[in-house]
Amino acid sequence: MKVLVINCGSSSLKYQLFEMKNETVLAKGGVERIGMETAILTHRPHGKEEVKKVAEILEHTEAIRQVLQILVDPKYGVLQSIKELNAIGHRVVHGGETFSDSVLITDDVKQAIRGCFELAPLHNPPNLKGILAAEDILPNVPQVAVFDTAFHQTMPKTSYLYALPKALYRRHKVRRYGFHGTSHKYVSERLQELMGVPLEELKVISCHIGNGASITAIKNGKSMDTSMGMTPLEGLIMGTRSGDIDPAIVPFTMAKEDLTIGEVSSMLNKHSGLYGISGISSDMREIEQAMFDGNERAKLAFDMYIYRIVKYVGAYTAAMNGLDALIFTAGVGENSVLVRKKVCESLNYLGVELDDEKNGAHDKKERMISGDNSKVKVFVIPTNEELMIARDTVRIAKLKK
Ligand code: ADP
Repeated sequence: MKVLVINCGSSSLKYQLFEMKNETVLAKGGVERIGMETAILTHRPHGKEEVKKVAEILEHTEAIRQVLQILVDPKYGVLQSIKELNAIGHRVVHGGETFSDSVLITDDVKQAIRGCFELAPLHNPPNLKGILAAEDILPNVPQVAVFDTAFHQTMPKTSYLYALPKALYRRHKVRRYGFHGTSHKYVSERLQELMGVPLEELKVISCHIGNGASITAIKNGKSMDTSMGMTPLEGLIMGTRSGDIDPAIVPFTMAKEDLTIGEVSSMLNKHSGLYGISGISSDMREIEQAMFDGNERAKLAFDMYIYRIVKYVGAYTAAMNGLDALIFTAGVGENSVLVRKKVCESLNYLGVELDDEKNGAHDKKERMISGDNSKVKVFVIPTNEELMIARDTVRIAKLKK
């Protein structure tokens, strides 16, 4: 049983090919600079050397064709024939209110994905392009769409509505959708296995903190609130995104700095967050380094970053009326010993006790890092969105492993 997972961006594409019998990755890679004469295909077959190929790849159909070709290449390939491919899973960022689970792609599904273009103008159009291209080349292979928003469709109205005039929701579907759903779902399912307790009995907070960052309250296995909102700008402080601010700052700044809508949006999305505060970098490694070197702005950025996470954990613990487990995942969550330590230090009022040795250990990535007496269990669980997409593809396409 072989499943290809595709994540299509506007000028790039990432892929992973899974053998689902044992959930191993047979090959992974990507195409960058789609639309250019010098697009780059990178292919990493399992157990073999990485291959890079420069080619003219002007659109997504050609990119997928090249990926399929290299998958069956006599030298670098991992398949005898493309007929071995049983299904394709596509990452789709926005499923609006239509999708609360992954789905088999049909004409209606494609129409609904198009219907969400306005909500995710940078992501959904290339996601759909990838679907159309894959259908074009492999019309008989089942294709499944897996949405970043789907996991959060269980949120109650009290979480997902904004206190705005009701008409905005009715007319334009202005509401909280939440993102990183595939990741929050994956780590919560792993947690269930690691703790040996059904998710239905747990109150969990998962912190997906990478370049983009979101935090989710998961009660009885269901997302009940999440920090990203109608777009991925709300919530935590991120690499270059502001997260929560007073919305009045937007018109104020536009007037004072004579900014257009595009410019203010770019300020909030690309020039804020860790980068905006520190003036140094959006990368937590560089922020930590600069902080150790005595840079005050880096220290402030770090402290604000931690404070925002701690505030959300407190809020979501209150929202769930308790907390059993806290999960750290994604680039910062999986790798920064210091971020985890600082967050947990501020949570001792909840009975969080970190085991410094376990927190600092790097030999095993997936692990519990709280002490034996900690009332709240704390875990590092590396996320694996691609595997989650592949699993959903098997489930939805009703394939037998
Ligand atoms: P994305 O949201 O783009 O998927 P990732 O989840 O890959 O991002 O996270 C990338 C971020 O992880 C980097 O910008 C960096 O700040 C952070 N990171 C990676 N390794 C470390 C580390 N060892 N210590 C601190 N931060 C790290």
